[in-house]
Order: sequence, then structure tokens, then C-alpha cells
Amino acid sequence: MQFNSLTETHIKALQSMVDADRFSTGESVLDLHARDQSYHPRSRPEAVIWPLSATEVSGILKYADEHRIPITGWGSGSSLEGNPIPMKHGIVLDFSQMNRILEIREEDFQADVEPGVIYQDLNAKLKHTGLFFPPDPGARATIGGMIANNASGTRTVYYGSTKDYVLQLTVVMANGEIVEMGTRSSKTSSGYDLIRLMVGSEGTLGIVVKATVRLTGLPPEFSAAVATFPSVETAGKAVFEIKRAGLNPAALELLGPESIALMNKEENLDLSVSPTLFIEFHGITTGQLSEVLEMAEEICRTEGCLQFRPGLGRAERDHIFKARHGLGETIIRNHPGCRVLSTDVAVPNTQYPELIKTIREEVDASKIVGYTLSHAGDGNVHLVVVGKKGDKTEWDKIDRVVNTVVARALNLGGTATGEHGVGIGKRKYMATEHGSSLQWMQRVKSLFDPNGILNPGKIFP
Ligand SMILES: Cc1cc2nc3c(=O)[nH]c(=O)nc-3n(C[C@H](O)[C@H](O)[C@H](O)COP(=O)(O)OP(=O)(O)OC[C@H]3O[C@@H](n4cnc5c(N)ncnc54)[C@H](O)[C@@H]3O)c2cc1C
Repeated sequence: MQFNSLTETHIKALQSMVDADRFSTGESVLDLHARDQSYHPRSRPEAVIWPLSATEVSGILKYADEHRIPITGWGSGSSLEGNPIPMKHGIVLDFSQMNRILEIREEDFQADVEPGVIYQDLNAKLKHTGLFFPPDPGARATIGGMIANNASGTRTVYYGSTKDYVLQLTVVMANGEIVEMGTRSSKTSSGYDLIRLMVGSEGTLGIVVKATVRLTGLPPEFSAAVATFPSVETAGKAVFEIKRAGLNPAALELLGPESIALMNKEENLDLSVSPTLFIEFHGITTGQLSEVLEMAEEICRTEGCLQFRPGLGRAERDHIFKARHGLGETIIRNHPGCRVLSTDVAVPNTQYPELIKTIREEVDASKIVGYTLSHAGDGNVHLVVVGKKGDKTEWDKIDRVVNTVVARALNLGGTATGEHGVGIGKRKYMATEHGSSLQWMQRVKSLFDPNGILNPGKIFP
């Protein structure tokens, strides 16, 4: 696709569509929108616009489509695969000011939000209702960005990912048309599911300007435990058995010993430095939960667990999960002068121990610094690797390890990305993962965005 750079005429036309303080070509603003939280190289947009309404977005897209100017949506820029980096420059639409919670319908378990609402802010607002929006990527992400990436997190094993919580969307199509899709009904079998098509499309099919999201009841009781294992393989086996027993954990996170050592140091925790499972259950009564916890302990002990610490109080549980959520940033802080690459793969439950084993072997054999942290209950592993900036030999090794790990995940029947999306980094695996269905994805893209202006350079190899 050939795109046009912004000329003075384009800039004047675009400036006339929004208030003066919501259009910028300032150097520092362009720099701030040139990269996300990933290791991918910067690429600056030529202008940033902060829209406030569907009508504004519609006008901008219509103009951009007619003049072949790339448009990239921007939430918080917290992606890990370069998803919002404007590879082909053009305009970034930053949704941070389009962030109103429009309506909460408690009795229907629904909220209408603008795309720039941060999910933690929605949950803070919902606190008094006893409801919450469960997907929890950890970073301060916007709901628009979560929808675009189909984000998930520590509690996805029980509650599902973003795709399970989107009922209705208002989307501005590439040509500026405003389209409503989906229903407020909690179930439907009416027609093609355009919502599922939009969720996870990384802003390449349309721009979300409003969403109706599903809410769920906050669990009245919870229980949590920490289980340490002699190896990641035995821990992985315990994950599989806990799921097979139907215990329905609300979180089942596995961290490698190197991650535990870092959490101990940074957060003053006193955890044994071994592969460790964090297990959480949500339920109605403490009695029910203590039975479930006993069964989990029995399973862990059968799989050779070294230590099982049940009954964590809320403060300790929160402390551990805060450390878990902050681990990505902790790793960055602890390796000054280095670049950090976080890769994300997922496999079927039965293959999870095998994937973990491959990762450990590859990291050890290549002598690179790597941390494994995983949403083990979903068979989803993050390998966070650290390499010195500019050290080509080290980064070549890292590339080889990542390629081998992704190839292994695909070989085990899995996916190149469980939750971070394709962005820039995972494009090269798309043909292997999807085969001939990739061509059908390309046809969908051409239908929705014939001139290819929406987030060009993403998803497709
Ligand atoms: C420390 C850390 C931990 C993380 N942990 C997790 C995790 O556990 N699980 C997980 O899933 N992710 C995780 N992430 C990644 C990231 O937080 C999520 O993918 C999040 O959903 C991105 O939201 P955002 O608002 O930052 O979106 P951005 O990064 O700004 O954008 C994401 C994508 O959405 C598009 N977009 C933005 N707004 C719109 C819109 N209105 N319409 C259409 N497209 C739009 C962008 O173009 C881009 O393609 C983590 C990130 C960090 C830094």
C-alpha cells in the first residue's frame, strides 16, 4: 500500500476538525507515541489527535481514507508486541481524553464506556455495586486497547478474557461510517459475530468509540495458597491435575525460581526460591473453599510439592499479586542498560509441562538471562529475556531461543501469542500458525479497510 505523508493542507484540514489543544505535531508528543512497552524500534507518527466523540473520529477517518493517510489507535501504549506503534507514520488517535463511563446498569450487569476508560478506574467506580469487570492485564490499560488486543490476565483461567466481556460496540469503519454491532442481551445467535471479529483485531478493522461490557459479581470469599515445587515440570503437572480435578481455580500462576528471587528482593517477600504456584479460589462460603484448598494441597503433594502454604490473608494475597503484576517492570528496573523482550506463547493444558521444559532447556543451553512467568492455568507462558543494548551476538542468541520456543508451542498445538497479540513481533509466525486461513483473514481486512489505512504493518507478515 502507498500512503501519503501529511502536508500543510492535510494538517490544516485535520486541525479544523478538533479543538486546537487536541491536535499536535510537537516533537515530544510524537516521541511519546513512537513506542509502546515492547523492545520494537520506535516509529513516530506525523500528528497526534485526541478525539472526544464518534463524530470527530468519523470525520478524521473519512478524510484519512480519502487521502491515504495511516491511522493508528492509541490507548495507554502498554502493549508488548509493538501493537500501537505507527509503523507507517500518519496519525495516531489517542483515546486518553475519550474516557467517560457513560452508564452502569447494575441489574443488567453492564456498563457503557468510552474506549479510553482505564479498566482499574471502571472497577474502582463499580466497587459499591458488588460487581466488577474481570479481565486484568495488570498494566494501566484502556478498555479500547484491551478490546483491540483481546487482553487477559491472572484470573482468565476462571473468568475468561476480554472477548467474553464485550456485548456491544460502536465502531468507526475505515471510510468513516459509524456502525453499531452486537446486542445488550446476554446471549444471541443472531448472524455473524462481528464483536468477536473486532476483539483482537488490533485496530486494523475499525476504531472502537464505545463499548458495552459485561460485568460479574465480586466473589464474597476467596482463598489463596503458595506451593513450591522441586522443578517447573512437577509444578506444571500439578497445574494440569488441579484443572482436571475440576477445582476451578480463579488464578493459577507459575513463576520460575529466578522470578521468585527477584520478587523476594524487591517486595520483601519471604518465598522459597523454587518454581512456585500461586493458587487462588473464589467461592460463596469459607467452608466450601477450605475443602477445595485441601484437595489442591493433596494434588500438589502427590506431584512432589516441597511446601504448601494455604490460607493466605487478604493483605498477603494482595502483596503477592501486586509483586506478580509488577514483575515485568521489576525485571526492567533490575537490568539497567539492557533491553527486555517479553514473549508470550500458549499451548493446550496437557502440553504445558513440555513447553516449560523446552523453555528452561533453551534458556540454560544459550546462557541467556530469562525469567519465566506464566498464567499456567491457561497454558500461557511469558518468557522475559534480557540482553545488553547493542550486543548483537547476545540478541542473535535471544532471537534463536524465541524462535525455537514459538516453534515448539506451535508444534504442541498451541499459538504464537496467548494474550499480547501479533503486533509487529509475531507476524512472522502467522503463516505457520494459520496456514490457508491467513488468506481469509487478509480478505476480511481488505473488505473492512480496502485502502489499508488502519494500523498498517501489523498482524500480516
Ligand atoms: C507490565 C505489563 C504487564 C502486562 N501484562 C499483560 C497481561 O497479563 N495480559 C495481557 O493481555 N496483556 C498484558 N500486557 C500488555 C498490555 O497491557 C495489554 O495488551 C493492554 O490491553 C493494552 O492496552 P492499552 O490501553 O495500553 O493499549 P495500546 O497498547 O495503546 O494499544 C493496543 C492496541 O489497541 C489499538 N487501539 C487502541 N485503542 C483503540 C480503539 N479505540 N479502537 C481500535 N483500536 C485501538 C492500538 O492500535 C493497538 O493495536 C502487559 C503490559 C505491561 C507493560
